[in-house]
Amino acid sequence: MGLKLLTEVLSNVFKRASTIEYPKQPSLALKEHRGQQYADLSKCVGCSLCAVECPSNAITMASLPVKLKHNPRSIYPVIDYGKCIFCYRCVDVCPVKAYVITNYFEIASDRPGNSSELSLNTIPK
Ligand code: SF4
Ligand code: SF4
Repeated sequence: MGLKLLTEVLSNVFKRASTIEYPKQPSLALKEHRGQQYADLSKCVGCSLCAVECPSNAITMASLPVKLKHNPRSIYPVIDYGKCIFCYRCVDVCPVKAYVITNYFEIASDRPGNSSELSLNTIPK
């Protein structure tokens, strides 16, 4: 038993590590990984359906800072990534396919904790 264990230990000493030194080395997400999503405001019509359907109440509707013809109520969805469970129900129910999906997963970072900035950057100039 002792010899078997020693052989096992020694054989592993010279093998490459199976793990990576994250975050020193990047950990790449799969292409299909459900990461941070946000509404493209050049498409969103402010219907609130995504907020109504969200199972974890992660979406609140906020006022748009500008008037957009296709969004008569001047509101847009803001996702709280701390509450989101990334089920993508919001993405699926949106009638105008306004959601931009990404595989970004590093939520514990210095990026904003909600989707507001990402969405506001999509307002047509
Ligand atoms: S992915 Fe799911 S939990 Fe997250 S905001 Fe959309 S509906 Fe809500
Ligand atoms: S469901 Fe789509 S169109 Fe409606 S508020 Fe959400 S993102 Fe905008």
